[in-house]
Amino acid sequence: MLGLMQDQPLLISGILEHARKWSPRQEVISLAMEGGVHRQSFLQTAERSSQLARALTDRGIKPGDRVGIIGLNTNRHLELWYGISGMGAIAHSINPRLSPDQIKYVIEDAGDSLLFVDLPFLKLVEALKDNLPTIASYVVMTDEAHMPDGLAFEAISYEALIKDHPTRFDWPKFDENTANAICHTSGTTGAPKGVRYSHRSNVLHALAASARDVLGIGATDTVLPMVPMFHANGWGMPYACLAYGAGLVLPGGRLDGASLYDVMQAEDVTLSLGVPTICRALLDEIDKRGTPPSALRKMAIAGSAAPPEMIRRFADYGIRVIHAWGMTETSPIGTAWAVTHETAQLPETEQTALKSLQGRPVFGVDIRIVDTDGNALPHDGETSGALQVRGGWVVQRYHNGARDAVDADGWFDTGDVASIDDHGFMRLTDRAKDLIKSGGEWISSVDLESAAESHPDIAIAAAIGVPHPKWDERPLLLVVAADQARPDTDDVKAFLAKRLTRMSVPDDMVVVDALPVGATGKIQKAKLRDQYAGHYTQMAQS
Ligand code: ADP
Repeated sequence: MLGLMQDQPLLISGILEHARKWSPRQEVISLAMEGGVHRQSFLQTAERSSQLARALTDRGIKPGDRVGIIGLNTNRHLELWYGISGMGAIAHSINPRLSPDQIKYVIEDAGDSLLFVDLPFLKLVEALKDNLPTIASYVVMTDEAHMPDGLAFEAISYEALIKDHPTRFDWPKFDENTANAICHTSGTTGAPKGVRYSHRSNVLHALAASARDVLGIGATDTVLPMVPMFHANGWGMPYACLAYGAGLVLPGGRLDGASLYDVMQAEDVTLSLGVPTICRALLDEIDKRGTPPSALRKMAIAGSAAPPEMIRRFADYGIRVIHAWGMTETSPIGTAWAVTHETAQLPETEQTALKSLQGRPVFGVDIRIVDTDGNALPHDGETSGALQVRGGWVVQRYHNGARDAVDADGWFDTGDVASIDDHGFMRLTDRAKDLIKSGGEWISSVDLESAAESHPDIAIAAAIGVPHPKWDERPLLLVVAADQARPDTDDVKAFLAKRLTRMSVPDDMVVVDALPVGATGKIQKAKLRDQYAGHYTQMAQS
């Protein structure tokens, strides 16, 4: 017997129309690529997205077509998401920090027929243009006045494209499982893979992400995603903010600590989100100024492990860290940190110890850990295994994938290794590829880095497994020194010996000026492993 309730499909246009009707005066604030601050209301955002949808329809874009976007976080990028998805086409935000070959690859993989390009990436596209066979035309994400002279490809400006079109679009109704966006993984551990989201998965994710024990987004919030829209579905924020009437601040290309601090202060930002690298830059700026942006209460950190030291530093400024775990394949939020009825009763020290964990599964997502034979492992907080996930916003199959990416029961293997405790808190031990295997014992690079970063002389640490003549592999620690400090290897080893098992203490440490960072701000350990592959063999010989 079917339920007798209305069957309203969950569509992205539904979010936009809700925002237009019920939060028309709420704002989208962009640090414009042309300079200055651009403000527009949700009403204007809906009107401009409608104009765009009409313009694209007139240019022959049809439902199901893929539209590429190489752009930073701005109001135009937001309008593209709503306009393209709303009309039934598919928005494909492309990470400009991928290598040129990877960019060419992801455009072809998605089959983009039209490419929107932001001002800083024109040179990049000029260099690629002869190798983009699927792209029929280009639009530069600016106005007429800022169109560059002598572009090597034919293009019109975004503002010229949408100008004079009607500000209402009759959004079509279709199956909520229709694709609305494609995002490629950032390629930290291999070639980028396309994840094809649906209207349903993105609406459900927006609802779940905003819940109180996840990010807790409401109409009195102003949210600044420091994470780019091309990284892991923009962490769902462009959808969640319009759904819940929260102000949205889009920082464009100004992602240095000082600019972020200034805009957070000027716009009363209450919640921000980012990977640890960028959070560290913001924290350093807060340290410099001695006081945090005055309305900032919550910082969601994901993408790599948030070191306990970072969580404590934010807490000292009255900013609560929501440590979350997710991946492009999970839209991205899978787990998020929140106090539970039970953990609220624990003594303070035990609660503090829980804080560096990656949180609990949000409603709508299930997780488990399994051994190498696929048997489920206990949630005892000790046993670790391959982390698997399933849920309504978890990938079923990659775009152009020949087969499903899940097992017969719908579990997707994340490539991460984790343990889960009795309260349901997940602790990410490592990416499977980053675990260090020394003399048969597994060493977590995440634990080693967290411990090293609590040393006062160390700002950033990366631990990698390096071939070793006796132990197969031994951990090597690469560190960037804290301001003015000169970290000493023996001193750091002694410090770590008090906090880690004997085997986990690295044999050596190298102080470097900077660590290589990939397309989404994560440390490129594969590159470091290549670079330092001979380190212990050479040490043994000398
Ligand atoms: P890529 O795998 O190419 O880096 P993603 O940005 O989708 O692309 O990264 C997802 C991965 O990031 C996860 O599988 C996990 O390894 C890592 N990750 C995400 N959140 C956390 C976290 N809170 N702690 C540790 N690692 C995390």
